[in-house]
Amino acid sequence: MAVHRASAPIDERSLFAEYPFLPGAESLLGAESVSVRALLEEPAFGTARTLGRTRIRAAADDPRGLRDLDELARADPTVRYLSFLFARIVLSAAPAPATLRRWAVSEAKRSYGRLAAVPTEELGEVARRLGYPLTPTDAVGAFSLVDYLRLATPIREAEFRLARQEVVHGAVRVELVRAARLLQEAVRLRLSVPVPLAEDVVRRVREQERELFEELAVRMPLPVARPGGLAGPIQPDRFPPCMRKMQRILQQGENLSHAGRFALAAYLHRVGADEETIVDAYRGAPDFDESITRYQVEHITHRDGGRGYEPPECHTLRSHGLCFRDGDPSAAEPRDRDRDPRCFEPYLRHPLQYYRLRGGTVIDRGEESGAEDPRATAGSRDRPDAPGRTRSTGRR
Ligand code: SF4
Repeated sequence: MAVHRASAPIDERSLFAEYPFLPGAESLLGAESVSVRALLEEPAFGTARTLGRTRIRAAADDPRGLRDLDELARADPTVRYLSFLFARIVLSAAPAPATLRRWAVSEAKRSYGRLAAVPTEELGEVARRLGYPLTPTDAVGAFSLVDYLRLATPIREAEFRLARQEVVHGAVRVELVRAARLLQEAVRLRLSVPVPLAEDVVRRVREQERELFEELAVRMPLPVARPGGLAGPIQPDRFPPCMRKMQRILQQGENLSHAGRFALAAYLHRVGADEETIVDAYRGAPDFDESITRYQVEHITHRDGGRGYEPPECHTLRSHGLCFRDGDPSAAEPRDRDRDPRCFEPYLRHPLQYYRLRGGTVIDRGEESGAEDPRATAGSRDRPDAPGRTRSTGRR
């Protein structure tokens, strides 16, 4: 458990440099006013733009916000604030909405890393400015019941369930480290909303940051293997055309059918992706709801002692219009546009077989099955709600 440091006076400049999303952080600019266009274009803000791109790349590579950014720690508070603003503007204009949401998660987690160890006064100040007043003492803090429910609902860990909390006179008492976790959620919610931009600004950003967006498209689809998992590194470039297409649909912010959402989650689990990665895959969905998605992903992946549901076989995917073995003419990459001869082999009956044939390993009954006969098949079973908007009747 993180240890809260002794109390110290709060310096506003440092506070806003650390938490640039707080209302009032614009005071770092003093009397200077900086327009969106100036921030995007003027040489005077080149350092802030570079640092902003660093923030964006760090989120793409490290969605858990585990790494410290040295460049950020060294920068002047005003530059830090402008770099945050630049990153938020750029990602609000990004062609793939998932990039903004991923960045929001990463920035929120980085803030949590600090909030879990700061003096209680700082924790209380951040909570107050975020609009979730907290009354912290040395060991615990109290949120209003409404605020607690709003912040805790997307968190799936059992210890955040209301039934396990101490509620006194309409206030929920939580340990300070848990208060920090709830504030992480407040930051994520705040940053996940794109800033409204004029159409010509969106066009300008997309043109100016084209290389960055291309880089993100390559970096972000990389799934993360479950810690201690047996499937080894995940190799998305060896995924079959159907799964690659489903990933692209979500990345482009388009709707993926219920059957497709289920198939993708079940498939990613069996190739060893961790739950965070599977949830991330759905962030681009137009109706993405973190709480529901987490619940449904858990439901798919926890079945059978963690083995999870079987992804559907090829003939099932074909009947749902989800087989793309003939190629996808709308794809950006030539290999996705072309017909894939592997999918026409007579013995190919399952997307996991395809992955094995290409050298990927698949978790089978809790064990890696890379050595299994690639022509072996996996049967379909009944399936639960797919990740996305549909709420399971069994949801707590
Ligand atoms: S043949 Fe099977 S593995 Fe290949 S794209 Fe179609 S559904 Fe996917």
